[in-house]
Amino acid sequence: METKKRERPSFNKAIGGAMKQHYSDTRTRKPLAYTLMSSNPLIEVACAAGIQTAFPENYACVCAARHASPKYCAKAEAHHYTQDICSYCRSNLGYTHSHNDDPPNGGIGDPDLFLMTSSACSHYFKWWDTLKEIHQKPLVFVNTPRVMDPLNMPDFYVDFAQEEIKAAISQIESILNITLSPEKLAQAVRHSDKTVDYWQKVLALQKSVPAPLGLSDLSNALFVLIVMAGTREGATLMEKIYHETSQRAAEGKGILRRDEEKHRLLWLNIPFWYNLKILGYFEDRGCAFPISDYCQYIWGVTRMDSQHPLEGLARKALGGELNTSLDDHIQKLITDIEAYHIDGVIAHSNRSCRVLSVGVLDAASIIREKLNIPVLILDGDHADERVYSEAETMTRIDTFLEMLE
Ligand code: SF4
Repeated sequence: METKKRERPSFNKAIGGAMKQHYSDTRTRKPLAYTLMSSNPLIEVACAAGIQTAFPENYACVCAARHASPKYCAKAEAHHYTQDICSYCRSNLGYTHSHNDDPPNGGIGDPDLFLMTSSACSHYFKWWDTLKEIHQKPLVFVNTPRVMDPLNMPDFYVDFAQEEIKAAISQIESILNITLSPEKLAQAVRHSDKTVDYWQKVLALQKSVPAPLGLSDLSNALFVLIVMAGTREGATLMEKIYHETSQRAAEGKGILRRDEEKHRLLWLNIPFWYNLKILGYFEDRGCAFPISDYCQYIWGVTRMDSQHPLEGLARKALGGELNTSLDDHIQKLITDIEAYHIDGVIAHSNRSCRVLSVGVLDAASIIREKLNIPVLILDGDHADERVYSEAETMTRIDTFLEMLE
């Protein structure tokens, strides 16, 4: 697929450098913890304790973008993990069973422990249990209640989550024979909160017309929001992203020029990581993606007070789309579709991420009915490109674009 080359924001280069450094660090620095991405309060704890983190999901994204997922998924399937299992999980288990066969980005190191939270999807439990079994290393786990109605969350949920985080810290101290400094924890929470603050400001700037950033820029910035959470470098890089975005908005500079931006679309669910070029195809036809639910609602949703780091981390652990109800998700979509002047939705019905796909048809019909805007549903997968049909996808996109005109 040929797409027009466009000038992307310069911060992408800095993110590329940070990614390279991160993957090198995962192979050279110890102790190394495999850390779950979703609203995980133990990221900041690891940072304060001097534990190097690695994120199997992020690495699965890298493998998908480098077209290595098919071979890793096939490897996992040969070990009897079925195709219905999340392709991040299969890709990571296939990578684990492949024993360093020229992996993308040089691969990630072997873990010394696992840091997990329950505010995620059900796949993680079996996936991380399997990794624990393979590597024979301890798993530290924060258990939090599910928050169906975030506006009316009972206070005791926060107390409970704080106790869980305290217990996890004690476990980590005992496993690694270290003592966590409260000052360092407060500092990690301060850096993390600063990163979230700038991220939320970046998202607010995406309401500008033309949208200053594209969906691939926002997806890149997620690396800073999640993987670099708790670090000074992460906060500084997100500040840079904000300043560049703010300048672009002030100058009326978007990925598309103002007179080119004919439609503003929302991408629902995870992008096709192996085919981000498809976003360029939309751009060439005058369509911008100012937001996606994936970028908007899972991470970076909770501000934290570094004066009360444990409470802040407890609130982080309880937040995010993976720990809330479908009603809450759809309500947010409706609010944002109006706030970001969205006039069409591309909804990815994601074969192996059922947790983010189970409500896609409901969301689509509610959006069509309430807001009277078109929704295109595309079948695919976030990482396993073997189930993606380019011909079928492009035919459906072209028909949708004709309808938008
Ligand atoms: S939320 Fe979806 S993509 Fe993420 S681990 Fe669960 S099934 Fe996989």
